[in-house]
Amino acid sequence: MTELAALIEETRATRPHDPTQYVSAWTEREVLDDEIVDAFVLILRTKGCYWARKSGCSMCGYVSDGYVSVSKADLLTQWDAALEAYRGQPVVKLYNSGNFFDPSEIPALARRRILADLGERCEKVVVENLPQLVRTPLLEEALDLCPRFEVAIGLETADDYLRDHTISKDFTFARYKEAVRVAHAAGATIKTYLLFKPPFLSEGAAMRDATASVRAIDGLSDTISINPTNVQRDTLVDRLYRRGEFRPPWLWSLVEVLKAVRGAESRVLSKPTGGGQPRGTHNCGHCDAVVLQAVEDYSLQREDWLDEPTCACKGDWGAYVRVEELAHTSVDLDRFLT
Ligand code: SF4
Ligand SMILES: [Zn+2]
Repeated sequence: MTELAALIEETRATRPHDPTQYVSAWTEREVLDDEIVDAFVLILRTKGCYWARKSGCSMCGYVSDGYVSVSKADLLTQWDAALEAYRGQPVVKLYNSGNFFDPSEIPALARRRILADLGERCEKVVVENLPQLVRTPLLEEALDLCPRFEVAIGLETADDYLRDHTISKDFTFARYKEAVRVAHAAGATIKTYLLFKPPFLSEGAAMRDATASVRAIDGLSDTISINPTNVQRDTLVDRLYRRGEFRPPWLWSLVEVLKAVRGAESRVLSKPTGGGQPRGTHNCGHCDAVVLQAVEDYSLQREDWLDEPTCACKGDWGAYVRVEELAHTSVDLDRFLT
């Protein structure tokens, strides 16, 4: 185990949960065939991502959502409750804080029942998986039941060194590209998550990494979602944040990246979690809501007004980026210099 993986593992905490209750469900807006539609987002509780149980990733708090033992019956009880909450949204994003195709998280019989139910009810299904679990027979089974099937992969960065040394994920860019090839050959689409500002990166380095990563997978991934790091409890990022050694990215930085990759072949979007909060991507507090709205409108392909929002804090952001670069540091300057 690497030193980073050992640190991540040491920071973990698990909490007991009711295995018959799903984690959460909500409705959000999504684009389907150039139309804005409702998407039902469901997070099922499973024993969780196998990688999270080993050591996990530096920013991922999913291990806390998992329950040590979730039987097939427990899972189907969750699923029945979820179906009662479902209101016919055309898109269903079905997450399980891990890997949909991992039979130790979702047993094969439960997986087939869930996909069959969804195939009868919605137009498009999105699930999450690590690339090593994207395999042709599983994709074919899913596509047979749900003809519009998308696999979301948390690539986080196209840079293997950064993925290894700041995030601690257990696959390479080449492995990701192979998963994309396999998924497309089977007829599925791909959504790729990029982690905007992994720990230990300055604001400027994070912008360069996200921009380069979008360019590296442009045209390869059908959709690219840029996820600004948010500080989840009991993670390495949380530990750094509490010591003043991590600041979630500025919203201005996110806007810069979105502007830099405008015109990409892939659909590029961002749906920040915890935006405007101290633990999520934020600016000064006064302009956060307006900038977040601009990002949402841009992501829903409704408006392209990324250039419009402005605020006095934009100058502070520019200075922050420059001073970080000059000082060769990624600590939160506001915590140390003000
Ligand atoms: S980020 Fe993904 S791969 Fe990493 S521990 Fe969390 S669920 Fe597993
Ligand atoms: Zn501001």
